[in-house]
Amino acid sequence: MSIPIHQYDAVVVGAGLAGLAAARELKKAGKNVIVITKLHPLRSHSGAAQGGINAAFSAEDSVEAHEFDTVKGSDYLADQDAVEFMCQTAPELVRWFEHMGAVFSRNEDGTIAQRPFGGQSHPRACFAKDRTGLTLLQTMFEQANRLGVDFLDEWYVSDLIYEDGVVKGVCAYDIKTSKPAIFNAKAVMFATGGYGRAFKINSNAHANTGDALSIVARHGLPLEDMEFVQFHPTGLAGTGILMSEAARGEGGKLLNSKGERFMEKYAPEKMELGPRDLVSRSITQEVLEGRGVGPDKDAVYLDLTHLGEKKIMERLPELRDLAITFLGLDMVKEPIMIAATAHYSMGGIPVTIEGRAKKSPNETVPGFYAAGECSCVSVHGANRLGANSVLEAPLFGRHVGQTMAKDIDELELKEVDESVAERMLSEMKKLLENNGTERVPELRTELQDSMTKNAGVFRTKESLEKQKKVIQKLRKRYENIRIDDKSDVYNTDLQEAIELGHMLDFSAFIVEGALAREESRGAHFRNDFPKRDDKKFLKHTFAYMSDDGEISIDYGDVVLGKFKPEARKY
Ligand SMILES: Cc1cc2nc3c(=O)[nH]c(=O)nc-3n(C[C@H](O)[C@H](O)[C@H](O)COP(=O)(O)OP(=O)(O)OC[C@H]3O[C@@H](n4cnc5c(N)ncnc54)[C@H](O)[C@@H]3O)c2cc1C
Repeated sequence: MSIPIHQYDAVVVGAGLAGLAAARELKKAGKNVIVITKLHPLRSHSGAAQGGINAAFSAEDSVEAHEFDTVKGSDYLADQDAVEFMCQTAPELVRWFEHMGAVFSRNEDGTIAQRPFGGQSHPRACFAKDRTGLTLLQTMFEQANRLGVDFLDEWYVSDLIYEDGVVKGVCAYDIKTSKPAIFNAKAVMFATGGYGRAFKINSNAHANTGDALSIVARHGLPLEDMEFVQFHPTGLAGTGILMSEAARGEGGKLLNSKGERFMEKYAPEKMELGPRDLVSRSITQEVLEGRGVGPDKDAVYLDLTHLGEKKIMERLPELRDLAITFLGLDMVKEPIMIAATAHYSMGGIPVTIEGRAKKSPNETVPGFYAAGECSCVSVHGANRLGANSVLEAPLFGRHVGQTMAKDIDELELKEVDESVAERMLSEMKKLLENNGTERVPELRTELQDSMTKNAGVFRTKESLEKQKKVIQKLRKRYENIRIDDKSDVYNTDLQEAIELGHMLDFSAFIVEGALAREESRGAHFRNDFPKRDDKKFLKHTFAYMSDDGEISIDYGDVVLGKFKPEARKY
C-alpha cells in the first residue's frame, strides 16, 4: 500500500486549550501548521472544566501569593522558575482571553468575579458560571479558525517519528476510514491531555487514555513524575463524575454518616478548602473507618443546601443538573453524595519552560515539544491546585507555539519515506488479525479496578507490588486479544484496543514510580512511608522503558527558588 506523506512546518497533536493556543501562534507567525485530533476540537476535555482559571489581580491578592500557594500546594516539588513564569503571566492571559471574546462572570461593579479554591490564600479563580473550560475552549477554537488554522478531526495519532535523535513527524490514521498517513514536519507538539481513564472511579472523558505518553515511552524517551496522580475530593458517588471544587469554593460542607463536619480534624484552618490531596485522603479515611454514607457506605455528603436556590442557579447550575441526572439528588433540597475520583495527571512528558521535550534531565530532543496536561514542566509538582491547569494549558500552549515558530526558522525538514509507518501498520494489522480469546473491555476493567485499589489514594509497598504483577499479567493477556469488528469504517474496537495498550504501558510507569518513591508527598501517599523525605526525594522522577517493557528509574533536580521547603500545614 502506498501511504501519503504530507509535509508541514508544524504538527500539533490535540485540540484542547494547549494545542489550540499553540496552533494559533504558529499560524499567526505564518507557519504551515496542522492540528490533528482524535475528537472534534470542542469535545476535548478542556471543555469539561467547570471551576475556573487562576490569576492574581485583585487589590488584596499578589502574584507572589499565587506563586507561594502553588509551590506549597505542590509539596515543594514544582520547579519554581516555571511557577514564576506562570503566575506572572496569568493576569495578562485572562485579559487576553477577555479581549478575544471570552465572557467571564462579573461582580456588581463590573470587574471580573473571582471565587476561592482549595489551597489558595485569596479568591483567585476567574470563572464563567461553572462552564469555564467550555467558554475558553470555544473562544480559542473560534480564534484559531479565524486565522485559518487547518484541522484534521477524528484522526488518531499512533506513533511519533523519532530517528537519529530527532523528531521528524507523526504517523496517524483516519478513524472514519482507517486510512493511514505520514505527517512529516520540522516540529511536532503533543498536547494530548490527561490519563485519568486508567482508574475505575475517575472524572475524565473517555478519550483521556494517555496515548502520547506511551507513544513517547516506547521510543525510550523519559516520562517525569508519573506517580503523582491527583484524586479530586468530590466526584459523584459511584461514577466519579466531577463536582467542581467551585462547590466547596462557594461554601459546600463535607459531612460523614454521623453528621460531623469532619474536615475540622484534618485541616482545622482551611476546612473544606484544604488542598485536594489532603481533602481526598480525609474523605477516604472517613470511609475506611466506617463513617461513609450511601448503599455501599463508600461516599460522604456534600451539603450545599444553605446556599439557597438563587445562588446555586447563578453559580453552579451545571453541577446541580449533573447530580440530578446521575444521582437523582437535588442539591438545592438535600445533600449529595461524593467520593474521591482520579482527576489529573501531574506527571508527563518532561519539558523545559519553552516546551522543548527532554530526553534526559538536561538534554532536549530537536523538533519535539509538549504542553498542557500531557506535559510536565513542572508547575504542579506533587499536587496541583484547582484552577491552575486551565491556566497552564493555554499559557504554556501559547508560549510553546511561539518557541516553535522561532525554532522552525532554524530547523530543516528531515524527509522520511514510507518505512516510518511500519510500526503503526504492524500494530493495526496484528490487532485486526489476532484471533485470541481475551477481550478489550474485560482487560480494561481489570486494569481500572486494580489501579484504583492498589495505586489509588493510599498506597503501600505490598499494594504496589501486587499492582506491578497485575499489569505484567494484563500485558501478557493483551498479546492474546481478539476484536470482533474487522472493518475499515469507524472501527472503535480497533481504537479502543490501541488505547488499552497505551493505558497498560503508562500505568506501569505510575506503579514503578510510586514503588521507588519511599515517601509521602502531595498526591502520592505511602502508608508505609507517611512522611515527606526531602533528603532522598526532593527530586523529579525520570523513568524510561526498555524495548522489553521493563522500566528503570532515574531522578532529576527540582528547581528551587525563593520559597524554601517547609512543613505543609493547612
Ligand atoms: C471534569 C474536569 C473538570 C476540570 N476543571 C478544571 C478547572 O475548573 N480548572 C482547572 O484549572 N482545571 C480543570 N480541569 C483540568 C483541565 O481541564 C485540563 O487539565 C486541561 O484542560 C487539559 O488541557 P489540554 O489542552 O492539555 O488537553 P485536552 O483538553 O484534554 O485535549 C486533549 C486533546 O488531545 C487529543 N488527543 C489525545 N490523544 C490523541 C491521539 N492519540 N491522536 C489524536 N489526538 C489525540 C484529543 O482529541 C484532544 O483534542 C478539569 C478536568 C476535568 C476532567
